[in-house]
Amino acid sequence: MIHAVTRRRVLVLGGTGEARELAARLTASGVPVVSSLAGRVSRPALPEGEVRVGGFGGVHGLAAYLADEAVTHVVDATHPFAERISANAAAACDLAGVPVVRLQRPGWSRQPLASSFTWVDSVEAAREAADGFGRPFVTTGRQQLEAFSSWGDRFVLVRVVEPPGWDVPASWEVLQARGPFGLDDELDLMRSRRVDVLLTKDSGGALTEPKLRAAHALGVAVVVVRRPAVPEGLAVVETVDEAYDWVSA
Ligand code: NAP
Repeated sequence: MIHAVTRRRVLVLGGTGEARELAARLTASGVPVVSSLAGRVSRPALPEGEVRVGGFGGVHGLAAYLADEAVTHVVDATHPFAERISANAAAACDLAGVPVVRLQRPGWSRQPLASSFTWVDSVEAAREAADGFGRPFVTTGRQQLEAFSSWGDRFVLVRVVEPPGWDVPASWEVLQARGPFGLDDELDLMRSRRVDVLLTKDSGGALTEPKLRAAHALGVAVVVVRRPAVPEGLAVVETVDEAYDWVSA
């Protein structure tokens, strides 16, 4: 337990389950926490404690926020693919002289099935890698869905949390759903749609990992987009426990 008299004020850059878990633990320990969400999702799962929503206005906006709010520690617990906010956090903390750590769950490259996946560097490269397969299942997210617009003449199964926001081709089936997704449901879905190839980002974590096991069980090929690099010099921890200990130290 963190000593209540310490004068800490923690900013958790969120949008992930780990960020919510950390906010709950710090709040329970009496540490003032502000969780920040980008505001992309219409009904986000809200963390415990104070919450603010929306961008800061780049590096200088975030640095000014840290000073105005007397933030003493920043935990960048954003999604492994939220590249810009991570870079901004590292630069803003440097400017403001506030310590920062990146909380990033381990990716899937260490899991036993990883060697059977095709690893690529971008969503566009994932589309190219999957071009020769009949029926793709796209789970790389709404924001870069237009990278697949050249697949307008084939069946494509797409799963997104929020609607795509543009008129996808009539041959596509779009499922709007938020995880976790269990193994049996993933098996049923891939079987019923006769999926040949699964496309995913290396998000890591247990909530969406059953799709990888389902694909393996059904002989479905898997194409994984590698994570962007962590900004240089930014310390990384992989678990909520480690992030909690870092704030406490
Ligand atoms: P991004 O490209 O890295 O960030 C774009 C801009 O959005 C940032 O420059 C910042 O605006 C604002 N922003 C992002 N995260 C923010 C946060 N937690 N609090 C306040 N402002 C934030 O981000 P993204 O990939 O669009 O992801 C947006 C959010 O969704 C993140 O919080 C992330 O954790 C969550 N998420 C992302 C993914 C994914 O695949 N990318 C998946 C699941 C959840 P300003 O420059 O104005 O400050």
